[in-house]
Amino acid sequence: MRKVAIYGKGGIGKSTTTQNTVAGLLEMGKKVMVVGCDPKADSTRLLLGGLAQRSVLDTLRDEGEDVELADICSKGYSNCRCVESGGPEPGVGCAGRGIITSINMLEQLGAYSDDYELDYVFYDVLGDVVCGGFAMPIREGKAEEIYIVVSGEMMAMYAANNISKGILKFAQSGAVRLGGLICNSRKMDNEREMIAEFARRLGTQMIHFLPRDNDVQRAEINRKTVIEWNPQCIQADEYRTLARAIDGNDMKVVPKPLQIEELEKLLLEYGLLN
Ligand code: ADP
Ligand code: MG
Repeated sequence: MRKVAIYGKGGIGKSTTTQNTVAGLLEMGKKVMVVGCDPKADSTRLLLGGLAQRSVLDTLRDEGEDVELADICSKGYSNCRCVESGGPEPGVGCAGRGIITSINMLEQLGAYSDDYELDYVFYDVLGDVVCGGFAMPIREGKAEEIYIVVSGEMMAMYAANNISKGILKFAQSGAVRLGGLICNSRKMDNEREMIAEFARRLGTQMIHFLPRDNDVQRAEINRKTVIEWNPQCIQADEYRTLARAIDGNDMKVVPKPLQIEELEKLLLEYGLLN
C-alpha cells in the first residue's frame, strides 16, 4: 500500500485535486482510502456525493471508544473509502494530535489490513507543515510519499518551500520522501516554466501541470469529481494523466529547500518581470 499525503497552502486546491486524482486512480481499478486531515472535514465531499460524514473525533466524543469501522469510514464513488478525521473543539486541543488519534483508530479497526486490500491511502492535510501538529502524519511515518500542490503565487511557493523543509527534517530519521510538485494553475505568466524550475531546484519534478478550469467548479456544485460529473471533458483527462503519473512515479527524493533570496529571485526571473 502506498501512503501518500497531499500538502500545500490553504485554498490552493488540495482537497479538490486529491479527490479528482483519486477518481482517476479508481477508474484504473485501484483501491483507495482518502483520509481528510482538516478540521473543515471537506476532504471527501465530492467522493461521497455531498453526504455529510461524521468525523472520527466527533464519533469518539459521542460514542466513546466503542466504535466500528463502519461508523467512521463510508464508501463513496467506486467503493472508495472515505474518512474525515475532524478537529478538536475550537480553541481546545491540538488538531495534529487528532489526526494521529484518527489514524491509530483506523489501524486498530483494521481499515488498512482487511480483505479489501488497499493500493493507496491519501491523506489530505491542512496547511503548512511548519506547524508541528500537521507534520504528524510524516513525523509518525503514516505518510511516506508527499505531493505538494502549488501555483505560481509567491505565498504558495513559499509554503511549498517550507513544507520541503519539514520533509527534509523528517526524512533524516524516517521513510518520508517528496514525490513531486503538482502545479494547480492560477493562470500566471510563465507559471509552468517557473514551477518546473522551482521543482528542479528542490531536487524534484513537476509531476503535472493542472490547468485552471471552471468545469472543476461545475462538478463541485454538483457534489462530484470531474471524472464522475463529465467523464468526457478535457479536465477529466488532466486528472487521469496526473493519476497515471503518480501511479508510475518512481522519483522519490529528499528535497533541497531554497534560501528565501533564491526563491524571490526565481519569481523575479520568471514571473514578475513580464
Ligand atoms: P484546499 O483543500 O487546498 O484548501 P480546495 O481544494 O478546497 O483547497 O480548493 C479551493 C477552491 O479552488 C475549490 O472550491 C475549487 O473549486 C477551486 N479549484 C481548485 N482547483 C481548481 C482548478 N484546477 N480549476 C478551477 N478551480 C479549482
Ligand atoms: Mg482542503
